[in-house]
Amino acid sequence: MQIKLYNTLNKQKNDFVPLEGNEVRIYSCGPTVYSYAHIGNFRTYVFMDNLRRVLKYNGYTLKHVMNITDVGHLESDADEGEDKMLKAARKEHKSPYEIAEFYTKAFFKDMDKLNIDRPEIIAKATEHIPEMLEFAKKIVENGYGYETSTAIYFDVSKLDKYPVLSNRNVDDQIAGARVDVDPEKRNPYDFAIWIKAPENHIMKWDSPWGLSYPGWHLECSAMSKKYLGEVFDIHTGGVDHIPTHHENEIAQSKGAFGKIPAKTWMHVEFLQVDGGKMSKSLGNVYTISDLEEKGIEPLAYKLFCYTAHYRTKLNFTFEGALASQKALNRLREGYIKHKNGNDNVEESLLEEYKNKFLEAINDDLNIPLAMGIIWELVRNESKSKKIAELLIDFDQVLGLDLTNSEKYIESQKELELPEEIKELLEKRKKAREEKKWALSDELRDNIKEKGYIVKDTKEGMTVEKI
Ligand code: AMP
Ligand code: ZN
Repeated sequence: MQIKLYNTLNKQKNDFVPLEGNEVRIYSCGPTVYSYAHIGNFRTYVFMDNLRRVLKYNGYTLKHVMNITDVGHLESDADEGEDKMLKAARKEHKSPYEIAEFYTKAFFKDMDKLNIDRPEIIAKATEHIPEMLEFAKKIVENGYGYETSTAIYFDVSKLDKYPVLSNRNVDDQIAGARVDVDPEKRNPYDFAIWIKAPENHIMKWDSPWGLSYPGWHLECSAMSKKYLGEVFDIHTGGVDHIPTHHENEIAQSKGAFGKIPAKTWMHVEFLQVDGGKMSKSLGNVYTISDLEEKGIEPLAYKLFCYTAHYRTKLNFTFEGALASQKALNRLREGYIKHKNGNDNVEESLLEEYKNKFLEAINDDLNIPLAMGIIWELVRNESKSKKIAELLIDFDQVLGLDLTNSEKYIESQKELELPEEIKELLEKRKKAREEKKWALSDELRDNIKEKGYIVKDTKEGMTVEKI
C-alpha cells in the first residue's frame, strides 16, 4: 500500500517513493546534550521511531543518521548567547566532554525505556570537525560565505530563494529585525557557519580563520552529506527547526552543492504542558524520570503521544498521562486475554483489520487512527490467539513491547505490594528454586495469613489481595 507523507517543503501529503531502490535514507536532528532531554523532545523521538517502524513494516530498509550536538548550539538558535555545552560545563564544574558523555548516556537510557528503535548511525558533532570545515570552505569558495572579525557568515542574499521552508516574509522581518546584533553582517538573516573563538573559549579547533568552532547548523549539513550523500529521502525535527535551523541547513547545502539536501522534510508539532509552553521558570520541564516517579511508565508516555497526530499540538497533563498508563494496562490485559483464548476468528476479519491498520499508518503516520483500530480489535468478543498474534504484528509499528505484557503486569503488581509481602515472596521463590516444597507451602500460608493469595501459573507466580 502506498505511503503518503506530509512534506513541509510543498505543504502537501505526497506519495513516498525512495530515491534509490528499497533503501530509505533519513536524517534526524538529535539532542543537544547539555541537560536531560524533556518529554517534549521525546515526543519528537517517538515520532522518529514511528517513522522508522512504519517504513520497515512496509518492507523498506533504512539508513538513518541522528546527530548528537555536543558543540556550537548557542543559547538562541540565531547565533546569540553562549554555547549551551560550555554554559552547562561551567555550571556543573565539568569539562564540556564530560557533560556531553553524561547526558548522551542519559538520553539513550530514556530512548531505550521508550523502546525507540536506534538509527543505524549516531554521529557526534565533535567527531566530524574536519567534514564541517570542508563544508564551510566549500561554501566560502562558492561565494556564499564572508569573513567578519567574529565569524564566517553565510550570505543569504546570494541565494535564489530564502527562506524556502517557512512562510516567513524576509522583507518584513528585515524591517523589524534587531540590526544591532553584529554590525558586520551584510544581511540581518545571515548566519554563522564558523565562529572565531574568544581567548578563553574551551572548545575550538584550528582552521583557515584561526582557532574557532562550527556554527550549529553546519553539523547536520556536513554529517548528512557524509553518510547519506548530497540528496537523501527524509529529514526530521521539531517545528521549532523550520524557520532557522532547517532553513539554514538548506541554505548551506545550496551554497555548497546547489541542492536542497532532502526530498521530504517532516516536522513534529510541540508538546505543551498544561496548555502552555514548557519552561524552566514555570517549573514544568518534565523528564522521563519525573514521570516514572509519579508511577507513569515511559511506555505509557509513548502511548500518550499516540493520542494526537504528530502534526497537531499535544497538551500534556499528569491526568492525561495517568489515563494512558491505565490504557496501557488494559491493552496488555487485552492482549493476554486473546493469547490465552482458543476461539476461532475468520481470516477475513483479521485481513480487514490489517488493511485498516496499514491504511492508517501509511496515511502520514496516522497513529491515533491506528490505535482506534487496535482498541476495536482488542475488544473483539472472541478470545483468539490469532488476534493476539495480529496485535504483536501491529506492535512492530507501535513499539509498546506487548510481547512482554505479562512481565509488566507482574512487576506493577509487585510494586503495589507491601515490603513485608515482597520479602516473603522472594523467600518463597528461592525455596521453590531449591525445591524446598514444604518451606514454600509454609511461606504461602504465611502470606495468606497476611491477606495475600499466591498462585503458581504457567506464566509464573501471581499474587492477589484476598
Ligand atoms: P534540542 O535538544 O533542543 O536540539 O531538541 C531536540 C529535539 O526536540 C528537536 O527536534 C526539537 O525540535 C524537539 N523539541 C524541542 N522542544 C519540543 C517540544 N516541546 N515538543 C516537541 N518537540 C520538541
Ligand atoms: Zn539538525
